[in-house]
Amino acid sequence: MAAGVSTGPVAVAQEPSPASAFVVVLGTGTPNADPDRSGPSVAVVVNGSVYLVDAGPGIVRRAAAAERAGVGALAPKRLERVFITHLHSDHTVGLPDLMLSPWTLERTVPLAVYGPRGVARMTEHLQAAYTEDIRNRIDGAEPANTTGWAVQAHEVDTGVVYRDSNVVVRAFAVPHGDWRYSLGYRFDGGGRSIVVSGDTRASDAVVRACNGCDVLVHEVFSAERFKVREPEWQRYHAAAHTSTTELATLAARARPKLLVLYHQLYWGTDDDGLLREIRAAGYQGPVVSARDLGRY
Ligand SMILES: [Zn+2]
Ligand SMILES: [Zn+2]
Repeated sequence: MAAGVSTGPVAVAQEPSPASAFVVVLGTGTPNADPDRSGPSVAVVVNGSVYLVDAGPGIVRRAAAAERAGVGALAPKRLERVFITHLHSDHTVGLPDLMLSPWTLERTVPLAVYGPRGVARMTEHLQAAYTEDIRNRIDGAEPANTTGWAVQAHEVDTGVVYRDSNVVVRAFAVPHGDWRYSLGYRFDGGGRSIVVSGDTRASDAVVRACNGCDVLVHEVFSAERFKVREPEWQRYHAAAHTSTTELATLAARARPKLLVLYHQLYWGTDDDGLLREIRAAGYQGPVVSARDLGRY
């Protein structure tokens, strides 16, 4: 069992992993504007390179906070690629931040954006929206490089979507309400396998993608608090997201070495409450409820 991880109901891992591949959860948030939880974004760090999943609001500042806490790979100018799960605003409001802020902080390479159909149009529109800013920084008195503002968008389907000397990245389709294109991602590299569910209801696709993986980062909502939600919200969340009890069953089949809850919908409960629900539903493996900047 990794240091800082217990199988008890209040486990929170805070020690940096000694592995050459690890996860930093930059933001555990949802559309709810919780000031303690930045928008959803997960950084997979492999051999010192960073692979971001999603770009929730606050992403660049949380990356800077991780750098300050000792993860040099998350220096803003080193944020060069992101894998978008789906185009919901809570997962993409940070895209213009990720496109432009690291450029002003000396990133010279274009941002590579991988994501489902529609992501290229989104980045084109965002670039159009910031035309005046880009022109002003390049043509004005402010020192700026002429390359780091650009975007290379790649619309991807399922299967292997990216490969370099560190990692192989596979995308898999997940069911998320009435989104036609919604993805999860699996990273293999640095001797570890890391799966990020994206937003999804309980799905065999995640079980297959993990299949004994090292870390499964999975979204979740409180099954207990769900009971007091209004019927129309219950219908939506049942179709779009995964409850603690569903996740307990799913994780027992997926067998991750560590289950990390993120994108938590608490509705009045807390991290301990979510973990109690998971335990009560019979899951016995290592599990933590992520907080912003947690490393796993
Ligand atoms: Zn979301
Ligand atoms: Zn969503």
